[in-house]
Amino acid sequence: MGRRLVRLLLVGSLAAAVLGAQAQQRAFHYLRQEQGLENLAVTALAQGAGGEVWIGTENGLYHFDGTRIRGYGVAQGLADPRVNSLHVDAAGLLWVGTETMLFHQAREGFQQVTRDGRPIAPQPGQSLTSSREALIVNARDGLYRVQRGPSGWVIGKIFEARDREHQPELKDIWSVLAEPGGDLWFGCGLALCRWSDGRLRLYGAAGRGSTAPLGSLMRTADGELWMRSRDRLWQLPLGAEKLLGVDLPATAAAPAPMSPPLIVDGQGRLLTQWGVGVARWDGNAWEAVGVGEGLRAGGGVSALLLTRDGGIWLGTAGAGLAHWLGYRHAQSWGLTEGLPSEDSWAFLRSAAGALYFGTGAGLAVRANDHATKATLVGDPREPPDVASSLAEDSRGRIWVGSFEGALRVFDPRTGKYRHVARLPRITSLLVDLTGQLWITTHGGVYVVAEPVRDALPRRIDKDNAGRRLPQVHGACIAADGQVWFHTQAGLFRSDGQRVVEIRLVGDATQLPESRDFAALACGQDRIWLGGGMAGLWEGRLQADGTARLATVDAPLLQGRSIVGLHLDRRGWLWAATDYGVAVWNMKRWRFVRDGDGLPWNDCNQGAIYEDRDGSMWIGTSRGAAHFDELEALFAEPRLDVRLRVAGHDVPAAGDGNPGLVLPWQKQGVVLHLTSSALESRGALRFEYRMAGLEEEWRSGTETQLAYPGLAPGQYRFEVRARNLDLQAESALQTLDLEILPPWWRTNGFYMTLAAMAALLVWAAYDWRLRTILRHQRHLERLVAERTREIEASHAQMRELALKDGLTGVLNRRALGEALAADVSRASRSRQPLALVLVDADRFKLVNDRHGHQAGDAVLVAIAQRLQGLTRAYDHLGRYGGEEFVLVLPDLDISRPEGRARIEAFHRSICASPVAVPGGALLDVTCSFGVASLAFGRLESAEELISRADAALYRAKANGRNRVEYADPGASD
Ligand code: GH3
Ligand code: MG
Ligand code: MG
Repeated sequence: MGRRLVRLLLVGSLAAAVLGAQAQQRAFHYLRQEQGLENLAVTALAQGAGGEVWIGTENGLYHFDGTRIRGYGVAQGLADPRVNSLHVDAAGLLWVGTETMLFHQAREGFQQVTRDGRPIAPQPGQSLTSSREALIVNARDGLYRVQRGPSGWVIGKIFEARDREHQPELKDIWSVLAEPGGDLWFGCGLALCRWSDGRLRLYGAAGRGSTAPLGSLMRTADGELWMRSRDRLWQLPLGAEKLLGVDLPATAAAPAPMSPPLIVDGQGRLLTQWGVGVARWDGNAWEAVGVGEGLRAGGGVSALLLTRDGGIWLGTAGAGLAHWLGYRHAQSWGLTEGLPSEDSWAFLRSAAGALYFGTGAGLAVRANDHATKATLVGDPREPPDVASSLAEDSRGRIWVGSFEGALRVFDPRTGKYRHVARLPRITSLLVDLTGQLWITTHGGVYVVAEPVRDALPRRIDKDNAGRRLPQVHGACIAADGQVWFHTQAGLFRSDGQRVVEIRLVGDATQLPESRDFAALACGQDRIWLGGGMAGLWEGRLQADGTARLATVDAPLLQGRSIVGLHLDRRGWLWAATDYGVAVWNMKRWRFVRDGDGLPWNDCNQGAIYEDRDGSMWIGTSRGAAHFDELEALFAEPRLDVRLRVAGHDVPAAGDGNPGLVLPWQKQGVVLHLTSSALESRGALRFEYRMAGLEEEWRSGTETQLAYPGLAPGQYRFEVRARNLDLQAESALQTLDLEILPPWWRTNGFYMTLAAMAALLVWAAYDWRLRTILRHQRHLERLVAERTREIEASHAQMRELALKDGLTGVLNRRALGEALAADVSRASRSRQPLALVLVDADRFKLVNDRHGHQAGDAVLVAIAQRLQGLTRAYDHLGRYGGEEFVLVLPDLDISRPEGRARIEAFHRSICASPVAVPGGALLDVTCSFGVASLAFGRLESAEELISRADAALYRAKANGRNRVEYADPGASD
């Protein structure tokens, strides 16, 4: 391309460039505040090493990764956020020039670069460039070279003050461009300067000089230099001494900025700011794209960017960023271009070069490529019908069939457009090699044998075998001239003379019904059939006259309704669908949709047409699309995917990728995916999995993947980008991840834990053992205590049961038992036993005179005094009231010592007065009745007591206070 431009320039005739006549609608996608671009005054654009688009604005820098926009400002280190220039150097580092400072991208945010502590202030416009070694900055106070040194940036001035005194042009530098080797180009004054090997060289204009400085410089891949001033485009051909001027299109409505953006596109065309849009120079003519072509650029185009995938991005002054959709391939035609209706059904390029459009409101024609607009053919007052099919006869007349069944013919030489016949709904018109016109309708096939003679259509109602030809859906003509048409009853073919059925054979279980096919395309020995439910089928012609159908494996057509098929001269199959156009170059499929410049995804039935130059026309209900530069459709898409772990640098992929070792975190790991592929971005998907966590691949558009609470262990994250529309996939990116266990899951901690657990078990055991033993001892003690208590209480109870409550001597029951035992024993052993019955004398008087308590005290005193003289085997008991009984075994009253003991008992009672409560001292006496157990006969205790009682009675009677003895064993 570049060389073509040179040749044209050298041939001359460029002084008055004419604006080309095209005025097709272009499609743009805008990134504005809704998408996150907060400042809409774009000043500079650059593509980063990762493919991302950097957007410099009057307030802030923005990053677009293909999915979302992220802003950078003061908080991210851009102390002055008024961006005026951007540049990505050979190492991929992004440089940002602002009104007062220079920054480069740093690990987090941006880092300012200063010289001796003073900021470097780049000029607005093209002020940053780089060679392989250094960044060059056109600052407000001269040109700087910035190089990486062993300890920071080494910054030096390229020209000293004396150079500038010597060469006044050096004071007025407008734009800089560095050659990779280090040579510098810059606009200086109104001239172009070159600085090479320490020498400065100036280039002036050939012919009319420049009236404005060269605000932008651009070098093509061929090494040609192009420049732009506010009013002209300039070129310095290789080896030339003078600049050649190229006029811009006729005066634009808006003035140009000092640094009008200038780039060369993927097809070698120059693209530059013009008016409030852009103008494109293909070496021959200018083409303007502005408001009339659908570009809404606000105050004008302030920056241009060609991305690596061939896309064009336009920065605007006030209207944000615009992405030119389908830049390489597509223009669309609609009402603006003169079509009577946007509903487009048929196209025809006549032998004379005119372009006919069959639309929803009739026929339109664009007389030639220089015509700005298409015009309606026919009487605009007539009710319009849908011009559904077009054909040209050998006299250059245009036949038009409509859905309403009208067959018309238009003669471009006379301008006459007349009605020929009324037929059923017309689905296609074809002229075969013999010149016959074929008309397929919903009511069968018609032929006009000699259209030039204005013969009327003749119906062919049966094929040569006599089969009826019913409703025809579509037709095509193969390169060999055979006409094919598919009907509700099957597929037919005609060589112009005979019509024969081509029977469709194949797997009967899968073969669709003929009526399910809506579209037909024909090749030399192959045909393709497609439809809504039927999918896409390829039929191969067999020697027996049948066509063997086999389904075409096209995953991206899954669920799409095919409404039109066409095999082009390249051998590519085009399938128009309800969801865009699929193109198959017999190796790869690719989808072209609204994001690629198609005005509307819902294509019209049969509305595919191949133009004379091989470009393609597609009809939709919202306009027609014209696709050219088609080879680029299958340019190998460079699909890439990059991944970043939040807060970490991800090592480069490939062999020896050491992976990342991350500490365990509760929130887990967050991965960010980016892809620089901006073409057909809507169809981009990421396929990924975290091996070690999941086996299945996942697919989605999400660019931020969170793995919360990822457990410690080894993982491998795998990801690839896939674009279904481009039928492209990126290389697989892998990242080995090791999540370290948290401190409480390390081996050391486990060992400590185990030791502690053992210790705890032992301690618990020990404690338990001690507790059990202590408990046991306690219990034993308790049992002993209780036992003692019980025993004591038993003893007490026994005592209580046996003793008299007042005096403590045996009660009457116990006394009886003891007496019975003693009497029994004494009887058996024939030992003596004396029983003394004691009765207090005149005791009633004590009670009466001193009270009952005094009486009690006297009773207690008597008991105590008697008890004091008893021996171990004697028993003292209270017989009742103030009477006591002494049972004295072994006491023989017949012996003096026996009687002496009894006298001692008697004396002890009155030995001393008894002190009673109230303080009185009472003299107490008792009377004794004594009986001795009789021997020689068995005497009972009762008898013994009775005898003693008799003796007592005598003692009372004999004056009291005396002892009386019963007769010893009287009956013996
Ligand atoms: P005697 O010399 O004839 O035996 O005269 P006495 O008053 O002792 O005889 P008596 O049998 O008439 O009286 C016995 C009295 O003893 C009657 C009763 O009130 C009193 N008495 C009986 N038991 C108790 C007792 O437990 N306490 C007191 N204070 N008096 C008692
Ligand atoms: Mg008495
Ligand atoms: Mg008495």
